[in-house]
Amino acid sequence: MENRHKIGLRPRPSIGLGGVVHDSVLPKPVAPPASRPSVMQAPVLVLNATFEPINVTAVRRALVLMLKGVAQAEETNHSEVHSTSKAIQVPSVIRLLSYRHIPQQSRALSRKNILLRDRNTCQFCGAALPASELTLDHVMPRSRGGRSSWENLVASCYTCNNRKGDRLPHEAHMHLTRQPRPFSLHTSRQLMRLMGRGEEAWRKYLFF
Ligand SMILES: [Zn+2]
Repeated sequence: MENRHKIGLRPRPSIGLGGVVHDSVLPKPVAPPASRPSVMQAPVLVLNATFEPINVTAVRRALVLMLKGVAQAEETNHSEVHSTSKAIQVPSVIRLLSYRHIPQQSRALSRKNILLRDRNTCQFCGAALPASELTLDHVMPRSRGGRSSWENLVASCYTCNNRKGDRLPHEAHMHLTRQPRPFSLHTSRQLMRLMGRGEEAWRKYLFF
């Protein structure tokens, strides 16, 4: 398995910082575990082979990785799910069996991820708002060649977005509350800590 991973003979499950293990690249599990949906959707911390936390996924996806032999449970949450042949302890923390290089900038550039990075906060006036009341602002306007990139897109309320228009922030006498950056491992770990607030078993991996 490890060798195949190294020389890339088969597609690997995507375990990036995006919190997404794409089922589409994984063959279906041999015996899909059946259980209550709430259990299957509970969050599971994903560790690299080196025990570095890299991701949060759902129990269902964690079980797929375990059944595939890609990951093993490091912590379980004292309940079981049953496949056709055996009972499996529900994982709370899993660890990849072979090391995965995680590129610094592996999160997909998307509206959802920009809002997540900016904590649903307008980067001009600082208002924290529901996603429906936020838009994405191109710091350097598209009309002036501004690109859609992590460094040029920020969450903005509609008021600030309209006020800024096709101008640079300083031209509109506005300023960014902070410089937009790609989703970093640091940001990602803060988010994992937030998501794992109630998960006692995660603490030793996330707080050190
Ligand atoms: Zn605003």
